[in-house]
Amino acid sequence: MAELFDQVVNLCKRRGFVFPSAEIYGGFRSTYDYGPVGVLLLRNVKDAWWRAMVQNRTDVVGLDAAILSPPAVWEASGHLQNFTDPLVDCRNCKERYRLDQLEDPETCPNCGKVGTFTEARQFNLMFKTHAGPVEGDANTAYLRPETAQGMFINFKNVLDASRKKPPFGIAQVGKSFRNEITPGNFIFRTREFEQMELEFFVPPDEAPQWFDYWCKERFQWYLDLGIPEEKLRLRPHDPDELSHYSAGTSDVEFLYPWGWGELEGIANRTDYDLKQHAAHSGERLEYFDQAANERYVPYVIEPAAGATRTMMAFLLAAYDEEEVRGETRTVLRLHHRLAPYKVAVLPLSRKEELLPAAREVLALLQPQWMCDYDETQSIGRRYRRQDELGTPYCVTIDFETLDDRAVTVRERDAMTQDRVAIDRLGTYLRDRLT
Ligand code: ATP
Repeated sequence: MAELFDQVVNLCKRRGFVFPSAEIYGGFRSTYDYGPVGVLLLRNVKDAWWRAMVQNRTDVVGLDAAILSPPAVWEASGHLQNFTDPLVDCRNCKERYRLDQLEDPETCPNCGKVGTFTEARQFNLMFKTHAGPVEGDANTAYLRPETAQGMFINFKNVLDASRKKPPFGIAQVGKSFRNEITPGNFIFRTREFEQMELEFFVPPDEAPQWFDYWCKERFQWYLDLGIPEEKLRLRPHDPDELSHYSAGTSDVEFLYPWGWGELEGIANRTDYDLKQHAAHSGERLEYFDQAANERYVPYVIEPAAGATRTMMAFLLAAYDEEEVRGETRTVLRLHHRLAPYKVAVLPLSRKEELLPAAREVLALLQPQWMCDYDETQSIGRRYRRQDELGTPYCVTIDFETLDDRAVTVRERDAMTQDRVAIDRLGTYLRDRLT
């Protein structure tokens, strides 16, 4: 299993999914850049989420709130006080750990010494900065450690502007920042990452049933996008694990090469956040139900997923190696919605005569799908390269194309080939890529 992790990390670098950040300067610990195909995969993960959570529903609207925010927001949300991890240092080797992540809280996993840890200190995970040229307490700002607060502080704006009423949700995808004590495992835990969060506002007495609903929906989303059921589980939190705002949380977990780890947390945040912001800001953050003639503060069910962490799970689940005619074929069996390129257009050779037809096919497909175009190397090697990128279909233009105006379409997983008329190619691919 550890081998799988290394294989995926290598593939990511080699094929342009993920690069270590600032690599030419020796790298910057646990910070990553998303390369030419990584940016596509990540975007597709976020688009698949948006499609399921916003586009295909009538009860959720979107938001893109600021990343920089004043301390008042985090004072009210409880993050200044509570968003901490317990930090311990080993007095012997000076390594730092999160106390709650140590298998044995007495023994240092690095040097093996027992009883060398310092007392745990609570370390706040928020990145603090200054807005404006003068550094001082008056212009302290924070980089958001979650996107959720943007939804709460805009609750009234969205309610007034969208005319939605509970049950309804606000969805957001964007960067969050946490000064993690122990980042690692590639893009599983980084200090800068992307989240996909929904805050779903409901009448308080409906909260338990919506919590169940969102646990099922979110679990199904991963299955629908190709993660095998045996690699997924829903794990309810123990009472002592719950965040300061939560009345109940279940995590969707994935079986990573090092064991089960969180992909997404679904929490019943109660009316904690809206009440806190109402108290601190003086605004009324409530819903007035005209039919019942009553005012109430909605409860919130929050499915909070990580886009970058989820992208890694999709890569790990999709990675496969198989023996084909005595050679090892590496293939990413990504769901076609997630695949960076949907189609690769490959003229059989670089001969001049083939290029007009190849360009014609590319021009036909490019407006509809993200396509790769490659005329270098042998066709076999180009197929292998597309397999490693997870491209579901390769379209080959050969010399017969010039006579029959048809192309060969090769499917990634079964490697079957179909001869398809150029005029029918759009329909053929649309049937398979939607
Ligand atoms: P963990 O226990 O792993 O630190 P968390 O429970 O603090 O995570 P949440 O606050 O519930 O995480 O955040 C929601 C989601 O955001 C997580 O399920 C994860 O997918 C993602 N996420 C959180 N922290 C990170 C990080 N440092 N790097 C990458 N993704 C993250």
